[in-house]
Amino acid sequence: MEQSKKDIRKLSLQDLEEFFVSNGDKKFRAKQVYDWLWNKSLKNFDDMSNISKETREMLKNNFSINHILVDLMQHSSDGTIKNAVKLYDSKIVESVLIPTSKRITACVSSQVGCSLDCNFCATARLKRMRNLNPDEIYDQVVAIKDEAETYFNRPLTNIVFMGMGEPLLNYNNVISAIDKITSPTGLGMAPRRITLSTVGIPKMIKKMADDEVKFNLAISLHSAINETRTMLMPINEVNPLEDLADSLRYWYQKTKRKVTYEYVIWDGINDDEAHAKALAKFCKVIPSKVNIIQYNPIDEGEFRQASQEAVDMYIRILEGQGIIAKVRKSRGQDIDAACGQLANKNEVGELEG
Ligand code: SAH
Repeated sequence: MEQSKKDIRKLSLQDLEEFFVSNGDKKFRAKQVYDWLWNKSLKNFDDMSNISKETREMLKNNFSINHILVDLMQHSSDGTIKNAVKLYDSKIVESVLIPTSKRITACVSSQVGCSLDCNFCATARLKRMRNLNPDEIYDQVVAIKDEAETYFNRPLTNIVFMGMGEPLLNYNNVISAIDKITSPTGLGMAPRRITLSTVGIPKMIKKMADDEVKFNLAISLHSAINETRTMLMPINEVNPLEDLADSLRYWYQKTKRKVTYEYVIWDGINDDEAHAKALAKFCKVIPSKVNIIQYNPIDEGEFRQASQEAVDMYIRILEGQGIIAKVRKSRGQDIDAACGQLANKNEVGELEG
């Protein structure tokens, strides 16, 4: 892809209108091109059949379409599909299609690599290389939407920002991608079918509340005790649970939307009653529910999934206090597509190069 040309999908409809008018063309041309680019996800100017050859040449001379390319597709025995997605600059991210009886969910990445150092996550082993552009996030969703139709003959129903990267550290681009995903000029999906998952950056949670976002919020909590959480997720040191709780109160006050806590229970780390009770207490900060996620091993290391007894003990304590807690089965483990396993295993050479 030629770097000198501007990514046309960085232009708003208004920018595009100005471009056409200043080049002596009709304003409505912009709407036609915009529709091809977003609603129809076209990859080439030449396929824009209602645009004259002359105009297409002019567009080609000025812009590129930095469309993603699904470089490798892996199918899990449980139906999960993992896409290794090549970006215009040859960097790779991964996205996952997760089928269940009721839903087809797209799990998408927001950054190449990740700057956070959560000790249990494979993506953390990759350095953060860059933020994804809105169109690169959007394209991942479109690719999975197409795969849902091709392989399952079903529509895409949900989107989760639980792939590589921390969405709140690429806030503007994530919001702009979500705007396109939910817009009638894009995919027209309902915001309530979208969940943004974050380590929980208080300042950004407050910003989301101020922006009155309409999608769901999930927090990767993993411990409601500062000492343990800091050990697991070093970002907790500068953003302790008290600040997180504060921002969640603000979120609820503004949005009236409850939050979901993602929680892995590890053997010998947070599998005791003190941790379960601390979680139950934290769940009272604002209306919430808990998703207990199975640990997906990323190496032979220090982390092991806790026993079934520990999981049962958590459920008993949470439910005893009226908190909804669900155990989420892991999907796509055999192709390293499960939570925390996205690390470009098949492309590590390229990423490190
Ligand atoms: N940065 C965002 C989104 C990416 S991670 C966030 O932290 O929320 C998506 C989810 O997978 C998070 O809840 C994360 O804590 C969890 N996760 C990471 N590594 C995991 C692993 N090895 N096993 C199970 N879940 C993991």
